[in-house]
Amino acid sequence: MLSCPRCQATIEPTTIQCPRCRLTLKAHGHPGIPLHRTEGDEPLCATCLYDADDSCNFPQRPHAETCTLYRSVNAAAELTLPTLSPGRRVSFWLRNHRGLVGLAGLLLFSLLLVLVR
Ligand code: SF4
Ligand SMILES: [Zn+2]
Repeated sequence: MLSCPRCQATIEPTTIQCPRCRLTLKAHGHPGIPLHRTEGDEPLCATCLYDADDSCNFPQRPHAETCTLYRSVNAAAELTLPTLSPGRRVSFWLRNHRGLVGLAGLLLFSLLLVLVR
C-alpha cells in the first residue's frame, strides 16, 4: 500500500487520482504511466539524468515539478556501479573470453614444450 504524497491517504499503486484530495498520481489517466513529483522546493530536473546529460527537450525543463520521464541520477549511478567482487569479475571475464584463454594456454604449453626439450 502507498500513501498520497499530499494528504497521506492510503492509495493503491495503480490509483490515478487521490480519492481524498484529488491529486493526480498518474499521467494521462493511465495507471501504467507514473507521474513523478518533486518533494520540497527543488525541481525534478535538478536530479534528473536527462538534465545531467542534456538530452531532455521538454518545455518544462529545468523547472519541472511533475514529469513522466524523470529518472534519478542517483538511481542510474547505482545501476552502473560495479557491484561484483574482483574475483567474480575475473571469473566472468574468463568465461566471456574462453577462446582467448584457450589460445593463451596453447601458446604457454608450446612454449613449455620448447623449453623442456
Ligand atoms: S525528463 Fe522531466 S525531470 Fe528530467 S530534465 Fe526533462 S523535464 Fe526535467
Ligand atoms: Zn491525497
